[in-house]
Amino acid sequence: MKAARLYEYDPAMNVQLRIEDVSAPTITAPNEVIVKVGAAGLCRTDLHIIEGVWKDIMDGEGSLLPYTLGHENAGWVEDVGSAVTSVKPGDAVICHPFNSCGICLNCRYGHDMYCDHGLFPGLGLDGGFAEYFKTSEKSLIKLNTGITPLSVAPMADAGITAYRAAKKAAKLVNPGGYILLLGIGGLGHIALQVLKHTSGARIIAVDREPAAQELARELGADIILDGGPDLIEQVKEATGGGAHVAIDFVGEHGTENICWKLLRQGGELIMVGYGGTVEVPTLELVANEIKIGGSLVGDFVELVELMELNADGLVKMHQTEYSLANINQAISDFKDRKFTGRGVIVP
Ligand SMILES: [Zn+2]
Ligand SMILES: [Zn+2]
Repeated sequence: MKAARLYEYDPAMNVQLRIEDVSAPTITAPNEVIVKVGAAGLCRTDLHIIEGVWKDIMDGEGSLLPYTLGHENAGWVEDVGSAVTSVKPGDAVICHPFNSCGICLNCRYGHDMYCDHGLFPGLGLDGGFAEYFKTSEKSLIKLNTGITPLSVAPMADAGITAYRAAKKAAKLVNPGGYILLLGIGGLGHIALQVLKHTSGARIIAVDREPAAQELARELGADIILDGGPDLIEQVKEATGGGAHVAIDFVGEHGTENICWKLLRQGGELIMVGYGGTVEVPTLELVANEIKIGGSLVGDFVELVELMELNADGLVKMHQTEYSLANINQAISDFKDRKFTGRGVIVP
């Protein structure tokens, strides 16, 4: 089968994924499932993997390269291990990105992302930028009738990551309050739709790109700002002192030290994008009682909830499709923000 594989890290991002013929994965354990990939979302994490941001955390002493990237996968069940009972060949499925064990205490509490023994196909082991990939039965959600893998693949990570952060924000802010979204890309546009259907708060969308601002307008953002140099003043004026919650979907290139300044007293920052370093004077934390935390992907049940919102037509993925052969073009266009929403690879 064809697969797009990474052979070396490069902070300058000049390397390309190699499209190769490799052996298709086979079942080697009773709980495994082979999925024929229908589509796989292209994620900023893929760029960060190529840059080598994850190298020290994941590779340890040796190197995990080469392997196939792609962790936002949906498709059709191709083959199942002997213990698999909940899906059968031909079923359309979306794949939670983290193969949690189901046995450890964190898993028992439902905190899939805290699993002590989890594996993340596409980060350190073969993922879905290929014709087939291997996951476990426990990661699969059957798609609702009429929903295609192509229409939802990035929900597997971009979608639930945005959903989890938006759900946290919705619980924190009362109707009439303000939730600010920094970055209306693949995640931000999903968070915006989720908030429109789960929160009475007013939504402020911030993005430099006119196409992203237009998408935010179409999706019902109450206030749209271009992220210019006077952003802090604009937000304070529009909100009467600052946002109640800000979600930073960028987390690098300078946003990480603007986002917390957009909060009002008692406000909360939820960091989703990453790559930068947050530097906050302790006096700011004390005097303004702001809270700063992160949000990591999402649990299995959060993906189930998101797929129900999607099935009801309330949250849709805006995406641009590329063939597997054109994946390096997709990566280049992603870096240059040549498309709105998500880029999706179709093998
Ligand atoms: Zn992702
Ligand atoms: Zn576990």
